Amino acid sequence: MYDVLVVGAGIIGCSTAYHIKREDPSLKVLLVDKYGAAGQGNTARSAACFRNFFYSETNFLLADSSVSFYMDLQSKGVDLKLKAISYLFLLSGRQYERLKPVIEEMGRRGLEYKVYDAGELEEKIGLKANVTVDEEARELGLEDIEVGVQCIKAGELDPELLVKYYEKEYRDLGGEVMYNTEVKRLLFEPEEKLGMPGEPYPWQRAKVAGADTTKGEIRADMTIVAAGAWSYQLLDPLGVDCLTKPKKRQVFVISAKSGKLADLLRVKGFNEEGCLPMTILPNGIYVRPNLEEISFWVGLGDELGRAFKLEEDPQPEEDFYSYGIYPVLSKYMPHFGGARPASAFAGLYAVNSLDAQPVVLKEPGLIVATGLSGSGIMKADAVGRIAAALYFGREEAELYGGGRFKVGDLSLSTRRVQRELFVI
Ligand SMILES: Cc1cc2nc3c(=O)[nH]c(=O)nc-3n(C[C@H](O)[C@H](O)[C@H](O)COP(=O)(O)OP(=O)(O)OC[C@H]3O[C@@H](n4cnc5c(N)ncnc54)[C@H](O)[C@@H]3O)c2cc1C
Repeated sequence: MYDVLVVGAGIIGCSTAYHIKREDPSLKVLLVDKYGAAGQGNTARSAACFRNFFYSETNFLLADSSVSFYMDLQSKGVDLKLKAISYLFLLSGRQYERLKPVIEEMGRRGLEYKVYDAGELEEKIGLKANVTVDEEARELGLEDIEVGVQCIKAGELDPELLVKYYEKEYRDLGGEVMYNTEVKRLLFEPEEKLGMPGEPYPWQRAKVAGADTTKGEIRADMTIVAAGAWSYQLLDPLGVDCLTKPKKRQVFVISAKSGKLADLLRVKGFNEEGCLPMTILPNGIYVRPNLEEISFWVGLGDELGRAFKLEEDPQPEEDFYSYGIYPVLSKYMPHFGGARPASAFAGLYAVNSLDAQPVVLKEPGLIVATGLSGSGIMKADAVGRIAAALYFGREEAELYGGGRFKVGDLSLSTRRVQRELFVI
């Protein structure tokens, strides 16, 4: 019998388990995962980039406080391989016209950014900003790049090191783990058992009482489902909606050990690491430098046409790179001409298709923390604190750095999230 059972030892489950234990080390908490260790789900398949440059207050509060927490951890000697390399959004004239007021408003709120014109970008990076002089680029419907917007409090880290940090701190506080343990279903029982067949009846007060797992029943006063893209599998049978569906995302790894790609990786003048920022092209293709591997990770989140589908081991598709990314990437960044991926991987986003914000809600005996929609690394600390505050029955969570967040804002019944306007 546990006070708290956390299902899912990804970054969200680990952060939540840690924050609960941190607040009350006397609680008996168990963290379970179907895999053999923490963070082996989609956390391990993440590009793990972060930024605080958001217009939506919800996005900003969640990401900014989490990023500050990670940065402070690293400066205190916890190596997360965090590199504040910044983000560089490359925008067409049309996009910049639409986003300029949004960006300026973010600047007024104190978010740090710099704007580069096309000439500077061409000179600094060797970017082809005026692609439309090329007939093929025109046929592809590409637009010229007018500006680059560099967001300063942004970068990348190693998600496995972050998971390990939370898991170790949690275990040091006496938190228990049970891996290679799959939850088959959540236990749903009456609060006062009558001992009759078919309980709970609709008129009985009932609650989630733990989980039936491949290692037997685990009973708990509170069960927290932090099962990422799999969450709906456990919640749908209970009639609990988490608004979250799985969608495949792919990353292609391109070596940058020599030639023009090596020069591109080590472009100077943007950050202290002396490398290209995490760079996003006008149509969403991103180029993430990986200084540890001396490579670029290249990806693109396709929306319409990409099915919602749960796959245990999603695979990258070679054609997605060859036809979906390469033709555009090599036009804007000729450095990639002829480059083929040395390897690739794919994972699942847990997409909240309503507003792409986390879902943190409570039902009797149950808390759900999911729907991170591709930003779970950069928001994990805040979401863990919010789920913990919900567990302790508080209306507000205190985020790292002292900011307050109304817990009910991420639920479904009292949801109040601000729409993101900085979307390319
Ligand atoms: C390709 C890709 C790129 C990404 N890039 C970024 C990025 O740049 N920045 C960013 O912030 N985020 C990014 N993300 C998103 C980020 O990785 C996720 O939001 C985050 O990892 C979600 O964490 P989680 O704990 O909710 O899910 P997961 O890490 O998937 O953890 C869920 C856990 O639950 C376990 N589980 C599920 N069902 C059961 C069950 N029945 N019984 C027992 N255990 C179960 C799983 O084994 C898993 O370990 C990316 C994701 C992908 C796939």
